[in-house]
Amino acid sequence: MRIDPLQFLTDELDSLKQQGLYRPLRVLESEQSAHATFDHKSVVNLSSNNYLGLTTHPRLREAALDAVRIYGAGSGSVRTIAGTMELHMELERRLATFKKVEAVVVFQSGFTANAGTVSAILGKEDVVISDELNHASIIDGCRLSRAAIKVFPHKDVDAARRILHELPAGQRKLLITDGVFSMDGDLGPLPGLCEVAEEFGAIMMVDDAHASGVFGAQGRGTVDHFKCHGRVDIQVGTLSKAVGVLGGYVAGTRDFIEFLHHRARPFLFSTSHPPAVAAACIAALDVLEQEPQWMEQLWDNTRFFKAGLHAMGFNTGLSDSPITPVIVGDAPLAAQMSDKLFQCGVFAQSIGFPTVARGKARLRTIVTATHSRDDLQYALDMFGKVGKELAVIT
Ligand SMILES: *Cc1c(COP(=O)(O)O)cnc(C)c1O
Repeated sequence: MRIDPLQFLTDELDSLKQQGLYRPLRVLESEQSAHATFDHKSVVNLSSNNYLGLTTHPRLREAALDAVRIYGAGSGSVRTIAGTMELHMELERRLATFKKVEAVVVFQSGFTANAGTVSAILGKEDVVISDELNHASIIDGCRLSRAAIKVFPHKDVDAARRILHELPAGQRKLLITDGVFSMDGDLGPLPGLCEVAEEFGAIMMVDDAHASGVFGAQGRGTVDHFKCHGRVDIQVGTLSKAVGVLGGYVAGTRDFIEFLHHRARPFLFSTSHPPAVAAACIAALDVLEQEPQWMEQLWDNTRFFKAGLHAMGFNTGLSDSPITPVIVGDAPLAAQMSDKLFQCGVFAQSIGFPTVARGKARLRTIVTATHSRDDLQYALDMFGKVGKELAVIT
């Protein structure tokens, strides 16, 4: 009988199960909203990135439906051949105005935006200086570029400066940070890093996936929040989180964006968004600009929920954003706590290695603008009950 050449993968899975790192997929059977049904259970949903509730906003639904009626279901091509629709162009013009930059290009996702951009602009002679907790898509982009990668300790501006100081003046350098770190919810030190980039002539890049729609005026991101307009050469944002749809965008100068049109491989080799996606993203920008109540409610809810967790004695790390980690340490304990909460009607997914460091396993919570106070109080009560049962708090 033939030996299964993929047996090593089964062995690997068995090992994950032994370490408590094996997580079956939770299946969503309703809309993605504050109350949702996963695996036949109705829960208060603290695991989505749907910060503003836009996944189900009536204006986005209508825009998507209209686009399907007028333009059909798919775009039929990559952007550089026949797949650039007027809707794509309109979305990019709108984003450029919103971000106060010359030009924007939209990618299929935030992941492809990061990976495609870094790999397009750097080569093997160049060097990337990157925060140790930067997102996987940045790391993959760095690897694809074959540039040297120098990692600095989390948020350590002085360490980044020391690395840059030792590099040859003529070498091309990219200094890169997340705007909001996705697993801890803290902010990248943008003003300090901009200063260092300016001092050493490095390209400054910020990945604002979790900041888009959450930080800055009307959700313009951390560059706006820190008043660093004009100091960040490359801004990446996502349309998949607070914006409620799908996609990633890169914002910068016109020449930089036109260069990406010619060299970013996901742009050249993967089909563009369906019309419904582009239209819903445009509607989301209308909502960001015209309905400030969602961001206000998001931050109100964030303060309320963080204060509640903190008062019970949970370790919530150093978050500055609606992402609040409940750090428990052990991956099996985090998984057990998440499962118990789920049984009590609260969904807070547990996250372990390799998404976070070993020994830093956590439940990651994200409140949204559409959670009611009752939802959040119920979730807090269940965190208290389960946390005590598992001796995470006393
Ligand atoms: C989620 C995320 C991305 C990827 O965005 P998608 O649009 O989901 O592909 C990139 N960077 C960071 C920091 C993220 O949190």
